[in-house]
Amino acid sequence: MLSYQHHYHAGNPADVHKHAVLAWVLAYLTQKDKPLSYIETHAGRGLYDLGDVAALKTGEAAQGVARLEARFAADHPYRQRLNETRAAHGAQAYPGSPLIAAQSLRGIDTLHLAELHPGENAHLRANLAGYPAKIRQQDGFEMAQEICPPMPRRGLLLVDPSYEVKTEYESIPRHLTQIARKWNVGILMLWYPILTSGAHAGMLTHLAAAFPEGLRHEVRFPPVRAGHRMLGSGLFVVNPPYGLREETARLSEVFASRR
Ligand code: SAM
Repeated sequence: MLSYQHHYHAGNPADVHKHAVLAWVLAYLTQKDKPLSYIETHAGRGLYDLGDVAALKTGEAAQGVARLEARFAADHPYRQRLNETRAAHGAQAYPGSPLIAAQSLRGIDTLHLAELHPGENAHLRANLAGYPAKIRQQDGFEMAQEICPPMPRRGLLLVDPSYEVKTEYESIPRHLTQIARKWNVGILMLWYPILTSGAHAGMLTHLAAAFPEGLRHEVRFPPVRAGHRMLGSGLFVVNPPYGLREETARLSEVFASRR
């Protein structure tokens, strides 16, 4: 039974980290004329209302996008996607990763999304109705195994689980290794929380051993509320594209800045 619903957390500091990197990578990849595949294993609903009761209850967006957005350059792809979302859906709208991808991609590209929760899946279908996305209500890793290597071969896979099932920390390195074996040119991007428990540490040891050239980038931020167990946000990227190391160094400054 899945109970995690991202609309309580949309726009929090971890979303800013993950979505800024995602928007930058897709902007970089779409500079070239060649088509690409975007695959996402844990899509969520794609579009959030930061003014709804769930978002206001946790107040996490106030600590995230509301606090951090102005630290990005006005022409950063993340800010461009935020502005497009607000222009289309109103001032309180916030884009999930599937919408960031849909906005970034061109007619020649392919978009595959998995979302297992029936309610979230229905929202996702409605929120992405205007885009040519292939949406499945299926386990995300099962979908990735089925379609990798995708056509077009060039592209990006985002893995953004809710880590509700504690065995995910053990199974994810195995899944990524299998996918990388089938799709050796794919950029594989995994998000993970940095928790007070250190639950992510063993997974990172396995990932570093399996992918010694992988890029690991972490940012820290104050707890979104007193007693919150998330200390920061991490991304592990297999086959990082040219320029991503420099971009993540700039992101570290965004998070460290007191401005
Ligand atoms: N990536 C989204 C974004 O940044 O906008 C947020 C995704 S949220 C952290 C994780 C989502 O994965 C939830 O909506 C949950 O219902 C879904 N989920 C959980 N287990 C799944 C599975 N095995 N396969 C596909 N989706 C799953």
